[in-house]
Amino acid sequence: MPAVLQAQVADIVEGYPSTLALNAFTLTVSMIVLRLLDQTSWIVWLWFGCAGMCIAARAYMMNALKRRGMLLSAPKASLTILSLGALAIGMVWGALPWIVPSFDPLGQHAPLFLIMGGMAAGSVIKQIGYTPLALNFAIPILLSLMGNLIYLWRANEVLMGLCLSLMILVFIRRSIWAERMFVSNQVARHQATALADSLTRANSDILRQNSRLEALANRDTLTGLANRVFFHGRLAGDIARAKVVDEQVALLIFDVERFQSINDTLGHSAGDALLQEIASRISSLIEDGSLIARLGGDEFAVIVSGSAALERARSHAASVLEASRQPIHWHQRQAVVGLSVGLAAYPDHADNAEELLACADMALYDAKRGDRRQLREFDPDLRRNAERKRIIEQDLERAIQTGALGAWFQPQVDLVSRRITGFEALVRWQHPQLGFIAPPEIVNAARDVHLSEQLTARIATDACILARRLPSLGLDDVTVALNVSPREFALYSVPCMLQAVVERHGVEPSALEIEITEEAILDPALADEQLKKLEQAGYKLAVDDFGMGHSSLAYLISLKVDRLKIDRSFVKDVARSETNQKLISTMVTLGQSLALEIVVEGVETPEDAAILARLGCSTAQGYLFARPMPAGALDSWIAQHQPTTSLKRKMKSKHLSVA
Ligand code: C2E
Ligand code: CA
Ligand code: CA
Repeated sequence: MPAVLQAQVADIVEGYPSTLALNAFTLTVSMIVLRLLDQTSWIVWLWFGCAGMCIAARAYMMNALKRRGMLLSAPKASLTILSLGALAIGMVWGALPWIVPSFDPLGQHAPLFLIMGGMAAGSVIKQIGYTPLALNFAIPILLSLMGNLIYLWRANEVLMGLCLSLMILVFIRRSIWAERMFVSNQVARHQATALADSLTRANSDILRQNSRLEALANRDTLTGLANRVFFHGRLAGDIARAKVVDEQVALLIFDVERFQSINDTLGHSAGDALLQEIASRISSLIEDGSLIARLGGDEFAVIVSGSAALERARSHAASVLEASRQPIHWHQRQAVVGLSVGLAAYPDHADNAEELLACADMALYDAKRGDRRQLREFDPDLRRNAERKRIIEQDLERAIQTGALGAWFQPQVDLVSRRITGFEALVRWQHPQLGFIAPPEIVNAARDVHLSEQLTARIATDACILARRLPSLGLDDVTVALNVSPREFALYSVPCMLQAVVERHGVEPSALEIEITEEAILDPALADEQLKKLEQAGYKLAVDDFGMGHSSLAYLISLKVDRLKIDRSFVKDVARSETNQKLISTMVTLGQSLALEIVVEGVETPEDAAILARLGCSTAQGYLFARPMPAGALDSWIAQHQPTTSLKRKMKSKHLSVA
């Protein structure tokens, strides 16, 4: 294992200077001893020179290996070279007993004997990392001493020689064992380091993954803004902080108008690109550290905290709304997208995060009902309205099923003869807790909780029941009108629903009239198919609230609408308004040229009725004749209003009973 070899080299390198220094020192001491014994012959000097050169060569070799980087790159070769150096100096030392004349290891040369034996033992003890190095040095010295002792062939010396041979064996064993220990220590250390390294790597991997997961958990992947989860945490945190430091936290919620239809018509990738563009626009406009988040779908939120939060939030909303006038470019397309904004603030409107969000939502909901591009700030009325809406939505289905909600009928009369020409079914609901609920509120709630079809079916059923009953009340060619909100065409098939209802009650479609506000005609693509089906099925069609919108005349002609119902606002006080008289006169002329009957609604006074008749209006509806009433009240009203008819009916029934 290269790492172990490197550790062995490192072990040698660490003790190398002291080894060389000790060698030089013992060499000098040995020379002093020899000098004191007066045995420094030329051969001893030669030996001294060789030993000195060996030490110098070893120092040089070590330096060269270091400089060339071989200690690390070629540890095995380095060990061999260093071992050879050790062998060389070991052999030089081993030569000493043989060059000193009459070497007497246990006598006068005992100091040299001790120095050599001590050095050999010391090297084995010291150099445990790599056995060959220690043994290369020690064995030649010990063998030489042993050989010398035995060579003298004296009892003490031979015994000592034998002891020395045993010592050599012990040294070899000890050395090998020490090296094994060293190697296994190094292996264990290396494995531990590798394990620690891989743990560190795994740990940093986990940390990286964690931060990525954290980013994913907190970021909206489409826009890069904070997501709903992060938004909730931040809102709660900011409010908790604001409670302590007595500051405001303002919350803005933005909603993209008609985003769903963009998504539906241009596709989801276009919708995504548009959301990204809006997100980057909001981010570029709000740069005061406020948190910008996408709450999902087309809803964005901004949390504004710190001093003057409400003021700053208002100005953020104003700048975003202003910027929304600029077309947004995306994927080589461009569009002007309207935004609605709701604003609420802690502690002004709410006490905690959940309430604050609900308040901003209510404000947004209100903003969406109004003009485009507007900011609404929360006020307590919105909360009351929201609660009212919640109750209405919650109770609506049951009211439809139980009949607590149903149609009342307002008669329509011929302006000249005052004969009854029809009835309009109008939804009525007396809520046990909220009292009378206005029709538009019911219609909107039904749309929001997907009950539009059930609601209109309920009114159509009531209209059919009346239509069935009318001939028995002496009214033969009289239609019952019902209102169909133009938006319903997008929600379900009005013709299919009506067909089921009329078939169930055995009523001819021609007995019913469908009143649709101009809105429908302005969105022909949506309504076209269903209106044509209604017309083909034989229902009469009326354009309601005519004059309020911008009907396409060409479309009116192509649809074969039967009647135009002029909106109440033109009719009210018409006797005193010349402008309204002129307007109505124009509408009547228009209607006549298109062969459409003109109905005026909201007729409240005899003066207005007289003027309207003079202006050429044929049919009228209004409080002057009757208010909307329950079906049960119609019999007596009809009897009073059309005595001739009810007389005829009475005579008819008398005749039948006589017969
Ligand atoms: P609309 O279709 O224009 O209905 C006529 C409204 O004028 C009725 O209000 C009626 O009560 C009121 N009205 C009639 N004569 C007079 C009058 O002389 N003076 C005044 N000031 N008002 C008069 P209502 O019942 O509150 O209905 C309001 C609107 O709600 C209706 O306007 C219609 O657009 C809608 N609506 C009513 N019932 C239904 C329904 O069943 N389905 C749908 N989709 N909409 C309905
Ligand atoms: Ca109507
Ligand atoms: Ca109307």
